[in-house]
Amino acid sequence: MPIRAEWVSDARPMMGTEVSVTLWHDDAAVGAQLVEEVFREAERINQLMSTYVEDSRISTINRLAASEPVVAGDELFMIIRRSLDISVLTRGAFDITYESVGQHYDFRKRQRPDSATVAAEREFINYRFVELDRAAGTVRFRREGVRINLGGIAKGYFVERGVNILRVRGVRNAIVTAGGDSRLLGDRRGQPWMVGIRDPRNDGQVAISVPLEDEAISTSGDYERYFEEGDIRYHHIIEPSTGSPASGVHSATVFGPDAVITDALSTSVFVMGVDQGLRLIATLPDYESIVIDDAGRIYYSDGLQQPEAQPFDSPEATDP
Ligand code: ADP
Ligand code: MG
Repeated sequence: MPIRAEWVSDARPMMGTEVSVTLWHDDAAVGAQLVEEVFREAERINQLMSTYVEDSRISTINRLAASEPVVAGDELFMIIRRSLDISVLTRGAFDITYESVGQHYDFRKRQRPDSATVAAEREFINYRFVELDRAAGTVRFRREGVRINLGGIAKGYFVERGVNILRVRGVRNAIVTAGGDSRLLGDRRGQPWMVGIRDPRNDGQVAISVPLEDEAISTSGDYERYFEEGDIRYHHIIEPSTGSPASGVHSATVFGPDAVITDALSTSVFVMGVDQGLRLIATLPDYESIVIDDAGRIYYSDGLQQPEAQPFDSPEATDP
């Protein structure tokens, strides 16, 4: 069979969202195998970190950690530790213990906790209730009722791992995406990747597209998982201090070198809002942010060269 160098690409519903892989390989058949390997990694991480998988390690922790220390395994321990670090950095805007309230949502069934449930469960939201024993590699909850969910960070971890697998195998141009999180490897062979930030209120439209190389970019939006009752939108990003969906922002995008960080920070900036969120990003030299507020206004972090983020020429915009 002749060897053809080309782009190889595939997408699948995984991790509760769509996972896609695009890469360039000198041998398309080998490229296709590598794409497959990245999908396998997504499945492996899902089996470890999803609360929807009943016998995942995280589900075991949620079941047992209030009564005894539970061995997490190196990888899960590390992700929980990094989550707690980001809680400190964001003063609690990012908090994996949001799950005590979060578990009562089912967006497909339009189910949400009533106000009494929110009031009761939000008492258990506090990352300080999660105790890590580094020497033993165990997790323990300081109170009964505490639960954790890594939905705000696990996809970033996966895309980082996915790109790493490809890099080790000699791939130099690739993009791995899981929902709102993408990790880019190299460029698009001579041009930057153009990553679109969705228009939060117009499905399928791109609000801004950002040229990036060798970077991670994550967007958290109130359009990913939600339902509406009257004019209230119940969505999946919880303000830990109230136990209710965060308001004021339609989407928060963060880009920088590490997808674990961009994923957790996009969720954080969404919760913190435009002012506080951009102030936090200003303290992190390697990270930039673009926030769209609930009036559709677009804000850029200080370090961002405005020309780097060009308005996207949608067909609508160019039509006379
Ligand atoms: P997605 O790519 O699914 O939109 P995000 O990065 O926006 O993910 O994170 C949203 C997810 O993070 C939610 O579905 C939930 O699992 C989790 N989450 C919600 N609120 C918080 C919070 N305050 N801190 C940490 N994780 C959260
Ligand atoms: Mg995130």
